[in-house]
Amino acid sequence: MRDPGADRLIHFLETGFPVVLSVAIGIKWQSEMKTKKERAEYIARKLDELYPEIPIPLDHTDAYTLLIAVLLSAQCTDKRVNLVTPALFALADNPHDMAKLSVEAIKECVATCGLANSKAKNIKALSEMLVNNYGGEVPRTFEELEQLPGVGHKTASVVMIHAFRIPAFPVDTHIHRLAQRWGLTNGKNVEQTEADCKKLWPAEDWEKLHLQIITYGREHCTARGCDGTKCEICRTTYPNRTKPFIAKKA
Ligand code: SF4
Repeated sequence: MRDPGADRLIHFLETGFPVVLSVAIGIKWQSEMKTKKERAEYIARKLDELYPEIPIPLDHTDAYTLLIAVLLSAQCTDKRVNLVTPALFALADNPHDMAKLSVEAIKECVATCGLANSKAKNIKALSEMLVNNYGGEVPRTFEELEQLPGVGHKTASVVMIHAFRIPAFPVDTHIHRLAQRWGLTNGKNVEQTEADCKKLWPAEDWEKLHLQIITYGREHCTARGCDGTKCEICRTTYPNRTKPFIAKKA
């Protein structure tokens, strides 16, 4: 038979002792999420609560117009891209028509987007390539997409997942920074962040998660040099964070 005194002591050590200890040393004790998996599950749940519906912010009608919109969004806001694409797509919303336009005509439409010169050249060159090599269709592999002028891995990933529903996890600066502040990656580089995110969440959730994280980042991470202690997800994943967390840049 167990000694009731011993039972009471065990119960106190398991439940009351941490509270008494934390009060005694003046620290508000809060449980931290210890594993990446635990944090990833909480983050996905919270983001679903915050953004149950998450539309693609770039206006487009098919894979080609999405590709052009993503290319234009480099160093430019999605809002600005959505302001310039109607005029551009009124002139040409497919590779055949776009390839016939001069670089100057394209540049005139995208002038307010930043890097207009190189973007206009790339849009014309990639449209010619689509016509000459792919019968005017946008190819469906990373290798082929990433060979198009002005198309890097992130742009290719956006097209793959949103236009073709082929699993991809596009990592932008918001995702790279937040994944570090939420303890999901060591932030060595964007390739590492992408690989870590893919391991933590099932492929069928990548499409919405990458949009949800970007949206959360845009809404919250506006303060320059935030130390990762202010907003709900950062506070919940790391409630005892006291020192500024400096994220590595993409
Ligand atoms: S606390 Fe808020 S602003 Fe700071 S990194 Fe976290 S989400 Fe971004």
